[in-house]
Amino acid sequence: MSDKNSYVFEAQTKQLLDLMIHSIYTHKEIFLRELISNASDALDKVRFNSLTEPEKYKDVEDLSITISIDESSRTLTISDNGIGMTEEEVKNNIGTIARSGTKKFLEQMKSQKNSDNNIDLIGQFGVGFYSAFMVADDIILETKSEDSDIGMRFESKGDGNYTLENIERTTRGTDIILKLKPIAEDDSEDYIDRYTIQRLVKKYSDYVRFPIKMDMPKQTEPDEKPDDKKDTIEYETNTLNSQTSIWQKNKNDVTTEEYNEFYKMHFHEFEDAIEIIHTKTEGIIEYTALLFIPSRPPFNFTQPEFEKGLDLYSKNVFIMNKCKELLPDYLRFVKGLIDSPDFSLNISREILQHTNELKKISSNIEKKVLDILALMLKNNREKYEKFYGEFGESIKMGVYSDMQAKDKLINLVLFKTSTSDDKYISLTEYKDRMKPEQEFIYYATGDDAQSIERLPHMEAIKDSGYEVLYFTERVDEFMANSAREFEGKKLRSISQGDIKPKEEGKEKTTDANVTDVLTAMKTILGDSVFDVKETDRLRDSVVCFVSKEDGITFNMAKVLSESGNNMFGLKAEKILEVNTTHPLFEKIKNEFESNKESEMFKEYTHLLYDEACIVLGMPIEDPKLFTQRLSALMLK
Ligand code: ADP
Ligand code: MG
Repeated sequence: MSDKNSYVFEAQTKQLLDLMIHSIYTHKEIFLRELISNASDALDKVRFNSLTEPEKYKDVEDLSITISIDESSRTLTISDNGIGMTEEEVKNNIGTIARSGTKKFLEQMKSQKNSDNNIDLIGQFGVGFYSAFMVADDIILETKSEDSDIGMRFESKGDGNYTLENIERTTRGTDIILKLKPIAEDDSEDYIDRYTIQRLVKKYSDYVRFPIKMDMPKQTEPDEKPDDKKDTIEYETNTLNSQTSIWQKNKNDVTTEEYNEFYKMHFHEFEDAIEIIHTKTEGIIEYTALLFIPSRPPFNFTQPEFEKGLDLYSKNVFIMNKCKELLPDYLRFVKGLIDSPDFSLNISREILQHTNELKKISSNIEKKVLDILALMLKNNREKYEKFYGEFGESIKMGVYSDMQAKDKLINLVLFKTSTSDDKYISLTEYKDRMKPEQEFIYYATGDDAQSIERLPHMEAIKDSGYEVLYFTERVDEFMANSAREFEGKKLRSISQGDIKPKEEGKEKTTDANVTDVLTAMKTILGDSVFDVKETDRLRDSVVCFVSKEDGITFNMAKVLSESGNNMFGLKAEKILEVNTTHPLFEKIKNEFESNKESEMFKEYTHLLYDEACIVLGMPIEDPKLFTQRLSALMLK
C-alpha cells in the first residue's frame, strides 16, 4: 500500500471551497440533494454498463443508496454501490472543476461583488460535490471502481489541500463521509437528525429510482407502553423514497410544487418553470413526456456550448441526456424528458438518432408545445408576455428559419407599435385594427422605440392613422422577409416603396416646374441615387431616403454587411424623396428658376442628400466636404 499523498486544489476549486465554507446560504440542505444525485448517477452507470457487460456488473438488482448516521461523532455517511472511481477519476472528478457550469458559476461570482448574489448563485448552479462543505468541515470519500483492485481514500478539510491514499476495499462503490460542523445558534436544522434527513430525501429525492435506505427508530407498537424501561433505541431499515418517477405518476397526483422540485433538481434550475407539460401518448408509439418551459434562459443560452435536447428514458431507465433530435432549434429553451418503452436500452446513440420513432415523437412534442403556447397567449396574456420577453427571439428565429412551423409561429409573435403604448400586440390584433383602405402591415426598424419615432418616415404615416410595428431586434426584419405576409396582408417597411395606396385610375401628377427641379437634382447627384421624387410621407422634414420597392431595405443591407453575410454585395438603392410643400424647397426652387446653372442650387442639393444620410444614421460619404458646405452657408 502506498503512503498518503497531499495535493493542492487548483485555484478555482479553492475559491469555490472558500465560498462554500463561509457560506451563509440559507438552503444549505441542498448538499444532500447533490450527493444523492451523484450517487444515483453512479448507480445509473452500473445499470447501463451491465447491459453490455453483464458478467462484470452482476448486482443490478441490488443497487441502492444508504445513509448512515452516527450522532456521537456527528458523522453523516452517504454510500452507494455505484460505479466508483479509480485514482485517476478521483483526481479528475473531485480534485478539479471540470464542469463548465461550475466554471461559469465562478466567473459570475467574480463579476458580482455583492455577496448576497453569490449566495443566490449557489442555488442556481447547484455546485455539486463541493456544496457538502457548507455543512461539513471534514469530508472523506472512499471509493472503489470495478477497474481497480484497491480502493482510494480522499480527504479534505476544505483548506485548499486534499490527501489521497490507497485503502483496502473489496466492494465497488463510494462512501461520502461528512464530519458535520458543530450546530450553530442560527442554524434552523441539524443534519444529524434522522427526521430532518428523512424529510429532505422526500423533498428532493423522492423520485430517485434506487432505494435510499436509512435506519429509523422502530415505531413502538400501540399496545406497548411508551414508558417501558428501554435505554437503547431500536432501529429498523426504512426506504425513504417512493422511487416512482414523477413522470410515471398520474398528473392529478402530482402538485405543481412537486413538479418544480423535480425540475430544479434534475435540470439544476433555481427558479420555477413558467409552464409544465406532462402528457402520455398511447397508440402507434407510446411515450410519456414531461416538459418544462423555464422562466428565464440559462446563462449560456446564446453561447455555442449551449446544448438543446430532452433526456431520454425507457421504462424509467435512463438512456441518454440532451437528445437534440427531440427538439427543433427554435424550441431549444425547452427542458424535459421523454420516457418510451419503444426504445431498447442498448441501442447505440447513432442508430437511435435516426429512428422513425424519435422523429415522430419529436414532431408530436413540437406540436404540443406550440398548442400550449397558443393557449397561453389566448388565456393568460400576462404569462405569455413574460415568456415572450425571455424567449420571443427564439420564436422569431423559428419564423425565419423553420419553413414548416412558420405559419403557426407567426401567430405567436408580438410587437410593440407606434400606437400600442409600449404594450405588445399580435399580428392578428394589428390586422383587426387596420384602416379599411390600408394595404400593408407596416414596420419600422431602429435601435429602440425612440429612434424609430424620430424617423422622418413616421411623419405622414402617423397622420394617416396607420399603426407601425417597431422592429428593434436584428432578427425582426429577417423574420418579416421570410414570412412576407400575414393572412393576405404584405409586411412592408415604412422606408420602402410607396406609402399611400395608389388611387385607382389616377396617376399621381407632379407640377411640371417641380419635376424640373427634381430632375436637375437627380442630375447633380448622379449615381448616388436611383431617383429623386416628390414625397407623400413627410411633414416637417424636407428629405428622406426610401429604398426601392423590389430591393432590400437599408436596415437589411446594414445588417448583412455587418455580419459579413452579404456575399452577393446586395445594396439598398436610394431614392431621395423631397417634401415639395416645405418652405426650404420653395427657396431652392426659386434659386433654380432664377439660374439653371446656379452653384448655390448644387450646394443645396448635396447638403440635402447628406441630411437624408444623417437622419437614417448612415455615414456621410465625405464629412469634410459636408462641413465646408455647411460653413460656407453659415457665412452667407
Ligand atoms: P456533477 O455531478 O454535476 O458532475 P459534482 O461536483 O456533483 O458534479 O461531481 C463531480 C464528479 O465526481 C461527478 O461527475 C462524478 O464523476 C464524480 N462523483 C461524485 N460523486 C460520485 C459517486 N458517488 N460515485 C461516483 N462518482 C462520483
Ligand atoms: Mg453532481
